[in-house]
Amino acid sequence: MEKITNYIDGKLQSPISGDYIDLYNPAKGVVYSQVPSSDIEDVEQAIAAAEAAFPVWSNMSIDQRSMIMSKIANLIDQNLDALAKAESLDNGKPIWLAKKVDIPRASSNFRFFAQAITQFSTSAHEMTNAINYTLRQPLGVVATISPWNLPLYLFTWKIAPALAAGNTVIAKPSEVTPMSAFLLSELCIEAGLPKGVLNIIHGDGLKVGAELSKHKKIKAISFTGSTRVGAEIAKVTAPMFKKVSLEMGGKNPNIIFADCDYEKALKTSVSSSFANQGQICLCGSRIYVERSIYDKFKADFVEKTKAMKVGPPDQADTKQGALVSKAHYEKVLNHIEIAKSEGGNILTGGEAVFPAGHEKGWYIAPTIIDGLPNMCRTNQEEIFGPVVTIMPFDTEEEVLGYANSTDYGLSATLWTENLSRANRMAKHIHAGIVWVNTWLLRDLRTPFGGVKNSGVGREGGFEALRFFTEPKNVCIQFD
Ligand code: NAD
Repeated sequence: MEKITNYIDGKLQSPISGDYIDLYNPAKGVVYSQVPSSDIEDVEQAIAAAEAAFPVWSNMSIDQRSMIMSKIANLIDQNLDALAKAESLDNGKPIWLAKKVDIPRASSNFRFFAQAITQFSTSAHEMTNAINYTLRQPLGVVATISPWNLPLYLFTWKIAPALAAGNTVIAKPSEVTPMSAFLLSELCIEAGLPKGVLNIIHGDGLKVGAELSKHKKIKAISFTGSTRVGAEIAKVTAPMFKKVSLEMGGKNPNIIFADCDYEKALKTSVSSSFANQGQICLCGSRIYVERSIYDKFKADFVEKTKAMKVGPPDQADTKQGALVSKAHYEKVLNHIEIAKSEGGNILTGGEAVFPAGHEKGWYIAPTIIDGLPNMCRTNQEEIFGPVVTIMPFDTEEEVLGYANSTDYGLSATLWTENLSRANRMAKHIHAGIVWVNTWLLRDLRTPFGGVKNSGVGREGGFEALRFFTEPKNVCIQFD
């Protein structure tokens, strides 16, 4: 069994303690590899390497940095099949999905920020006898901490802008899905990334993640994960006045008005509910449908959902793969029990699935629940699995109240052909992203992030480059 290694100072190396964590294949529920259980000693080594590399990397010309990052992007493309297979084995998602979405997006992240840095500019403010110009300088050694749901996609979404801006990076992937980050370290070596510029430390959140958060030499933390862990990081970093970007949980509304393009709303709602087994922070897990089309939409939605094949991720016709871990599978099943105890009717799903030959894997049938009040736990807490609720509404004001009733505010989806209504609703919804007549359509130049318990700060485009740089004003008087 090949074990994963850390990537420190340009080399692949075992954890100093020699301790490892078992790595599971969720499709079969069996251990298939091991990931380092790194600790403070590995973190210290990585920080020393990143500190030593900072002058080299930050002083390198933008063109050179951009060229190395583009090489990494090309290598990701060249290794598409192997990376997609590894991502699927590690995470349980269908291989076709990793191949279509996760891995291409990882190379786009590198390519996008390799180009964005060549277009990044600062401002100048002229006075009668002086000029102010603003420098945007890299922060130094920064850390990124990412989750298991879109492993390489989100890992690279943070690393790429940090590197493009001239920082050196300690990156901590999720210990649940570390394989594609490990494969990326091999590609970074192949691309000629100078040693110490990127260091990938694997391990437990409480050990590696917490050490990075509290370490004096880490100038900024870019985190994506749960609201609970985001709050922990905020608590530790606030008294140190560290820069933080926190991308956290969601409980997103999917609002369907009677005047929508019905077929498009129906088809997209199946993906926005269940893509990646519902394990995307942007999934619309609360579906509100205008009463005049509620019964028809509900029946059609249930029918389409029932037709989705739940099965092994390596089969081409599988629409729903396995959930990422036993703990997460049990958490989602428990939420279904909570929904039942709250009076919810299970319209489809609501149970585990045991595909032939994969009986020990962690599969749950896509689940639709109705009959629940808006303020119950099922409609307020993030489940992060293939479970959605569906509810009718009568007026715009009423559904706006429902949409804004949770502690979260990441994204929202609206389905209507009435532009004025779309504009009105978009303005008043508490969310960082509102999609109208589409879902998950992403332009990497746009600001990405959430409000309320979903996030602090924005990623994407120049927002990310601003986060990973410090502005400094220089004022020169002429006489
Ligand atoms: P998680 O918060 O459990 O873990 C995320 C990362 O934080 C992991 O690498 C983990 O090891 C690390 N970590 C754990 N404890 C830590 C600590 N005390 N200090 C520092 N780091 C620590 O999240 P998860 O279960 O991996 O991912 C699912 C969550 O991520 C969901 O809530 C989902 O909504 C959220 N998410 C948000 C976005 C977004 O863009 N807003 C995107 C994807 C996922």
